[in-house]
Amino acid sequence: MKALIVSDIHANLVALEAVFAAAPPHDAVWNIGDTIGYGPRPRECLDLLVDRFANPALVGNHDLACIGDVDLTEFNPVAQIASRWTALQLGMDHRAYLKALPAMTTANGYTLAHGSPRAPVWEYITSAAIATDNFPFFDTDVCLIGHTHIAMYAALREGQTTAEIHPLRDGETLDLLQARYIVNPGSVGQPRDRDPRAAYAILDTDCGTLTAHRIPYEIALTQRQMALANLPDVLVARLAHGM
Ligand code: ZN
Repeated sequence: MKALIVSDIHANLVALEAVFAAAPPHDAVWNIGDTIGYGPRPRECLDLLVDRFANPALVGNHDLACIGDVDLTEFNPVAQIASRWTALQLGMDHRAYLKALPAMTTANGYTLAHGSPRAPVWEYITSAAIATDNFPFFDTDVCLIGHTHIAMYAALREGQTTAEIHPLRDGETLDLLQARYIVNPGSVGQPRDRDPRAAYAILDTDCGTLTAHRIPYEIALTQRQMALANLPDVLVARLAHGM
């Protein structure tokens, strides 16, 4: 079974459509959360994922903020503005859809958590130390995460007590049978690893491999949509820099 792994779409429909157009054939879509917030097309992104039968799908901190399930004071001022704007765009069906999603689950012997297995909504896995601390918090060999918007993997090899952490590059394939892994495919709609291209991954559950991909999309189009929605300039500008 091949699963297309997407995370942190953040209502960037142009990027999401580019990912679906470029992705190699797959049997399932797995969504690690933060489908909305920041970007200009929240309804359309949710509808497209429902059409594509994304399952499992997780809820992220921004999704929860947009449906009023976390306190907006946890967010920086521009994220608050974007969350309030997004909340006004959603229909009852979008709210109900997001409200029913977990922040962590398992599928086909893989764990999925939006932030981390230890604290699925909020924790950022940004270092080898934090990754090491998280390995006891899931039972499978591999945990897929999002939240930092940085494509990376942490590997805990047999006999070692601390994990190593590496960037996950475009075209790189991980042999998931070699160690225990925490893998972040990167962000579809707002990458922050200085590569502005949309990030996604293909997980092959038969071979136990995960391949990372980056795909260019029309960033200027998303930026125009954001400007027309009066979303904050700093959020518009960052897309071009992948930061
Ligand atoms: Zn996010």
